[in-house]
This record gives sequence, C-alpha cells and structure tokens, in this order.
Amino acid sequence: MENFESINKNTFGVLFNAVSEGIIVVDTNQIIVATNESANVIFGYSENELKGKHLDILIPKKKHEIHHVHMEKFLQNMSHRLMGQGRDLFGTRKDGSNFPVEVGLNPFKLEDDHYVMAMVIDITLRKKHEHEILMLNTQLESRIQQRTSELQKAVEDLEDEVIKRKTAENKIKESLRKERELNELKTKFLSMVSHEFKTPLTGILTSTTLIGKYTDTEQQKKREKHLKTIAGKVKYLNNILDDFLSVERLETGKVNYKYSHFPLTKTLNEVIYDANMLLKEGQEILYPKQIDDIVLYFDDKILELILTNLVNNAIKYSPEHSVIEVESYEKEDMVHILVKDQGIGIPENEQKHIFNRYFRAENALTNQGTGIGLNIIKSHLENVGGCITFKSKQDVGSTFHVQIPKK
Ligand code: ADP
Repeated sequence: MENFESINKNTFGVLFNAVSEGIIVVDTNQIIVATNESANVIFGYSENELKGKHLDILIPKKKHEIHHVHMEKFLQNMSHRLMGQGRDLFGTRKDGSNFPVEVGLNPFKLEDDHYVMAMVIDITLRKKHEHEILMLNTQLESRIQQRTSELQKAVEDLEDEVIKRKTAENKIKESLRKERELNELKTKFLSMVSHEFKTPLTGILTSTTLIGKYTDTEQQKKREKHLKTIAGKVKYLNNILDDFLSVERLETGKVNYKYSHFPLTKTLNEVIYDANMLLKEGQEILYPKQIDDIVLYFDDKILELILTNLVNNAIKYSPEHSVIEVESYEKEDMVHILVKDQGIGIPENEQKHIFNRYFRAENALTNQGTGIGLNIIKSHLENVGGCITFKSKQDVGSTFHVQIPKK
C-alpha cells in the first residue's frame, strides 16, 4: 500500500488522474489501494474515500458472489483482458444506484506484490444510445413490415383487378365470337333458305298444281298422295326453321328448359306420326308400344326436336323398303333412346366431325340438309347432363343413342 502513497507525487500520478477512465487498483484480497479522480467521480466518492475498502463496495450486492468466483479464477491465471465479456456489467455508486460499466483488467506486479488495475468506463450513455437505436430499429422494422403488407395488399388488389379485367376481356371476346358466329349463321341461313327451301317449295307447288288437275272423284287416292307430299314438305321446312331457332337460342344463351313430367310415348307417337309423312316407298318405322311406364322429366319440345331430327335423318339417309327402329329403356339414372336405320351410314374417316355445326358427310350431299341437327342435339343434351353417341358403318346403317337423365 505504501508503494502507492507516492503515486500522486510524480508525473505518473498526474497522468493517473488525467485519464477519463476510472482507474481502481486492488490487491489480491480485492482491497482497493488506489483510485483516480475519474473513478471517484464515476462512483460518487471523494478523494481517498475508497482507499482500504473492499472492492465489493463498488459492485451490486446480488453480483458479489459471482464476482468472487470470477475474481478467484482471474487471480489464478492473471492476464490482461476485458471483464465480463458477453454479459452486462454494473457498478454501484455511493448512493446505492447501479449503472452499466465496461471494465478492463490489467494485472501487474510491484515489488513482489500482485495487483490488478481495473479501467472502468461508465457506459450509461452508450447503453442509452444502444437502447434508442434498438427502439428505432424496432420501430423501423415494424414500419417496414407495415409498408410491406400495404404494398402486398396493393399488389393483391392489382392482381385482382388484372383478373377482373381479363375476365371482362374474355367475356367481350366471347360475345364478339358469338356475334360473329350469329352473323355467319344468318348469312348461312339466307343462302340456305334460298337453296334448301326452293326444292320443297317447288314440290309443294307441283303437288298443288296436280291436285287442281285431279277433279274426278275416283282420283281421290292421287289427291291424298299429293296432300301427304305437301304436308311432309311443310313439316320438313318447319323442322329446318326449328333447328335454326334452336341454334340462335343456344348461341345467345337464351335456352330456358321448361321441365315437366311426361310419358315418353306421348312425344314419340307425335314424332312418328309426323315422320310417317316423310317415309319413302316401303319404309317402315318400328317402335315400342310397351313404354307407357317410361316417364321423363325434361322439356318435351326439346325432346321432340331431338327425336324428330334423328328419325328424319334415319328416313332421309335410308333407301326405300328399309326398316327404321326406335328402342327405349331405362338404366340406372338414365332413359336411353336408340334410333337405328339400314341406310347409307357415315364414312369412318368423317365420323369424328359428325357433330360439328354445318358438317355433312360426303355420301350425304345428294340429300337435302343443313348439317345443324346433330350439333344442336348434342348441345341440348350436354346442357341437361345427357349425351348422344352413335355407331355407323357405311352402306350398312347407323344407330344413334341418346341418354337423358331421369331427374
Ligand atoms: P343434315 O342431315 O341436315 O345434313 P345433321 O346435323 O342432322 O344435318 O347431320 C349431319 C350429317 O351427319 C349429315 O349430313 C350426314 O352426313 C350425317 N348423318 C346424320 N344422320 C345420319 C344417318 N342416319 N345416316 C347417315 N348419315 C347421317
């Protein structure tokens, strides 16, 4: 201790007091042997007041125990180092208040005695700044997070908008396509009317002219034959008109199916009654008479349109003296209706196009036709959850198979 009495008296003493760090020198028993002015100020003591006191006086009470353990280790293996690395260190002022410190430990030997010089820096301000920086960082992070989520929301809104616009654009494109198709259909209709209507109308005109000439009573049979021809051709023209109207409704989405319960026999009888007028010489339609118990829940006008098209095709594309057969049965949730003929059949390479609108097979071109019947049948059936398929062999015959859901 005497060794340090002289410190204040030499140049070293002046420097010792001039440094801003607090310097505390302890012996191996942790008794304070010297402090500089900065140390006294930092810890709130007056000159010489700390001398001879145990170091514990400058350390928070609850840290005494752990400090002793650390000090013990340090004294065994003395080396220059920063104290308390990785953990926060605190000093205790004379008034009992604690404050954060950074401490460097410097062991040295003076005339056979070991001492430790602790350089103490009050880091209250630094800690305050660190805390402020941490707060600012946290605020900044939460602001960034907020902005990011705002941005994300804006991006999502924008994506929604893009999807909406795309949908609208597609709708417009679709309407345009339908509009174009309708125009095309109207043009086709006009050219077809002039072509398709001419032949039957000429036939009707011929028949009426001839009826006018058959004035004798015994010519009643001939008159009846021509009346049948006229009725058949009118029916044919009417069917073409129905098909065109159906296409227009399907295209503009204006089909409203009028569902009701009705027996299949009722519609089938009507279709066959009308079809009889179109039969060629020796043609015969066989159809089931025992289907009274098949009741459909469907639009009877649409069913009539479907069956009329199929039966009329069977007649049209079959030779004289051939048989056309209609069959029907129920299976699972479907009512099945089959229309079979012994006609010209559909060439195999053209079968895949048969449901395309306006498509007509090569071998059918000598018959009148529009190529829209099968197309609208398919659309109607698909709309109501049904379907149509067919099997056909050229020059042997065709079978068209319709399925309609019972409910
Ligand atoms: P259209 O008979 O007015 O030409 P459809 O749409 O009813 O129009 O039929 C399309 C085409 O399918 C016909 O032109 C014909 O080539 C073929 N087709 C339809 N039904 C038969 C059938 N029963 N036998 C042979 N070919 C058929």
